[in-house]
Amino acid sequence: MFDFMDLEFNESELSVSSGLYIPEANECMRCGQCVSGCPTFKLFQINEETPRSRIRTISKILIEDVPVSADELKHLNNCVQCRACEASCPSQMAYGQLFDQAQTKLQKPLNGLGKLAFYLIENKKQRTWFMPFLKIYLKSGVQKPSQKSGIFEKFGLANAENLLSEPALKPLFDNYPANGISRGSVGLFTGCIAEHFDSETLIAAIKLLNANGYDVQIPKAQSCCGAIHQHNGQSATNLIENNLAVFNALNVDAVVHVATGCGAMLSEYENESFKKRLFDINEFLLANWSENLKLESSNLNVAVHEPCSQRNVLKNQKSVYALLQKIPDLNVITLDENHICCGSGGSYMLTHPENAAQLRDLKRQVITNSQADLVVSSNFGCAIFLNSDENKVEHPLVLLARQLVG
Ligand code: SF4
Ligand code: SF4
Repeated sequence: MFDFMDLEFNESELSVSSGLYIPEANECMRCGQCVSGCPTFKLFQINEETPRSRIRTISKILIEDVPVSADELKHLNNCVQCRACEASCPSQMAYGQLFDQAQTKLQKPLNGLGKLAFYLIENKKQRTWFMPFLKIYLKSGVQKPSQKSGIFEKFGLANAENLLSEPALKPLFDNYPANGISRGSVGLFTGCIAEHFDSETLIAAIKLLNANGYDVQIPKAQSCCGAIHQHNGQSATNLIENNLAVFNALNVDAVVHVATGCGAMLSEYENESFKKRLFDINEFLLANWSENLKLESSNLNVAVHEPCSQRNVLKNQKSVYALLQKIPDLNVITLDENHICCGSGGSYMLTHPENAAQLRDLKRQVITNSQADLVVSSNFGCAIFLNSDENKVEHPLVLLARQLVG
């Protein structure tokens, strides 16, 4: 019989998108190598909250086609979808893909606010129209009564408001020309809500690309990457097809994404022409940094938070450390327990606020212990979730752009 213990585990050799054989859900060997890195096992310390137990449930849904109990479903849905289990699995179980397939088969119905949220994610025009009202709402002081009314808890969005900052209303331009002579052109993936809630990072990305000699094009017709849909059992097909059409038609040398959560989804689009030109912004800037571009020094202690989408899917976290070396005198450290999810998990922070808050508390404690002046995270979702009065978390690009001379 095949003995998994004979395998020498090498994370870099594992790739869901590499065209290798992808095991079915019933091929999990139940070896347990995935258990210790699973954040929900860390919280609950029970077998039901392990990847192997969830894969057993997924196998029932996808392969055996037998009913699963409410309890099994609850534990399945407690999954943060961090995919740490994939990175440690000697059988190369494509957990993320299997989880999404199970969600699609289960077809969870959306409630009222859920429907509105998905509608706004899908429709840019309506989203843009909605934002001024959201801004007025957030400034108006009627938040407290609506929070007290319990309406957000009722619709499973108890945490949503606390995470929202005032949305930026000014749209980005279509084109940002390079500083000086152009070396090339890149398309910037902005996704759905980042233009309103993380414009600081997008503007930093544009400044750094321009300073490195790249024109930046931002196609207005692009849409959400589809990750939230796919991980919640909703169809992402229209969003994916739209992005493929928009970016494949764009006359650019590369397409870059700035949020690793979106990047992980984009990197798994099944379209080779699209993937050939797709880069994470950290990797792109590192590979194309202009020799003449110097940054101001800084003596800050900066800790790098490694989002799960970056560690377990894109696997390019080292590029952040290397890129930050462009800032003279900066002291860059890694956070302890970077392999444990911070709890944000896409929409998980909204759908499972209690579990998410416990994971965040653990991460915040690690951040406090690190004594860092600043934490950088390449995923917008993690950054907004981790930010607090004590901990300042921002995208590494924001720090880099601040150090641009002049
Ligand atoms: S998912 Fe992989 S690591 Fe986890 S028990 Fe199954 S075979 Fe082992
Ligand atoms: S994706 Fe993350 S939370 Fe879900 S089973 Fe795997 S390790 Fe656990």
